[in-house]
Amino acid sequence: MGRRIGPVCRLCRREGIKLFLKGIRCTGDKCAIEKRNQPPGMHPRSRGKLSDYGLQLREKQKAKKIYGTLERQFRTFFARAAKKRGVTGETLIQLLERRLDNLIYRVLFVPSRAEARQLVSHGLITVNGRTVNIPSFQVRVGDVIEPYHEESLKKRIQNNLEMLRDRPLPEWLELDRETLEAKVVRLPGKADAGLPVEESQIVELYSK
Ligand code: SF4
Repeated sequence: MGRRIGPVCRLCRREGIKLFLKGIRCTGDKCAIEKRNQPPGMHPRSRGKLSDYGLQLREKQKAKKIYGTLERQFRTFFARAAKKRGVTGETLIQLLERRLDNLIYRVLFVPSRAEARQLVSHGLITVNGRTVNIPSFQVRVGDVIEPYHEESLKKRIQNNLEMLRDRPLPEWLELDRETLEAKVVRLPGKADAGLPVEESQIVELYSK
């Protein structure tokens, strides 16, 4: 199970938009995009206009960075989306949204997907009463997700919920803030994800 390591604000600067990779810092004035929105490197402004391929590549890179996946895993997600009925780009976004680590982030247990991934990998999350330590695990309608029964963890999550109270809970999820029980009430759609990504460009890229 791979993951990207290294400075993450560069990734946002490379794409020129906020990808929200650092949790609470992303909404403050310390955000690198707020302070210096230009690509990293020696000559950030000297790059020319992007080709069609370049544009498609950038859209794919954005999606990969947002969900914290490496190329191989992202391709696997795409291959699964392409096999399903429906619009491939939208199915791809749905599969990415249904990742367990993404759900932990969406349900406001933690401020970033990186932290969510860590919680899951450390075996601190249960799905329908059973520990699941695979961040890419796909949640289904009706699944009940809870943190492990550990007081310090529950307290940490309660603090995060308080800190993130201004962030809306997506409509495809329900959360009992007392018991910290989250439930998938329907499958997420493209609109729920609200990504700054043109998924049709990703489909074009992989269809060559
Ligand atoms: Fe991106 Fe967050 Fe860093 Fe801002 S603080 S550049 S949104 S990772």
